[in-house]
Amino acid sequence: MSAPTTQLKALRDQVSALHAELVRYGLVVWTAGNVSGRVPGHDLMVIKPSGVSYDELTPESMIVCDLAGNVVEGDLSPSSDTAAHAYVYRHMPEVGGVVHTHSTYACAWAARGEPVPCVLTAMAIPVGPFALVGDDSIGRGVVETLSGHRSAAVLMRSHGVFSIGKDARAAVKAAVMCEDVARSVHLARQLGEPLSIAQADIDRLYDRYQNVYGQPGKP
Ligand SMILES: [Zn+2]
Repeated sequence: MSAPTTQLKALRDQVSALHAELVRYGLVVWTAGNVSGRVPGHDLMVIKPSGVSYDELTPESMIVCDLAGNVVEGDLSPSSDTAAHAYVYRHMPEVGGVVHTHSTYACAWAARGEPVPCVLTAMAIPVGPFALVGDDSIGRGVVETLSGHRSAAVLMRSHGVFSIGKDARAAVKAAVMCEDVARSVHLARQLGEPLSIAQADIDRLYDRYQNVYGQPGKP
């Protein structure tokens, strides 16, 4: 099942451009980190090539893979995290975008294996299992932790962040928000014990963020 050229071109453009957002928000260093987007209606995804610096990424250099992680289009090797992205798409059909970063404050929580508590209006961020790169274990940990969870981001223990969204842009937003709340709660901790929020209020805030903020249809 091959995707139309225009559809692939649009996704290549979007996924390439979204990598600049990781740089803009200070979520990545060197070549670490990656964004992917599902090709709607096809068992394909567009993902960053491995080992290419952010300045040199172009729509043409993005790699098209099937959801087993095999390269379908592209001259370079896909990101070394391709298997994890593919696993998420195979097991979470509602997910259209996946992002991975080693953003600093989130990693400081991941290194301790400690979830970020919901002490601000934004979100709580869960911790996923320790998993080695190279097989399905990272993807499995992401899916197990985020399935049915309110958070769109997970701190993989002793590693970094994986985030998901209905499309690649929403997944990048979740990665940015994850680092923001990880930083804020970290700083609050330096000055004392953050105050807790009652569960009923957390539920109301969650509902409000889902349904009231922003523009309709815009994550
Ligand atoms: Zn990583």
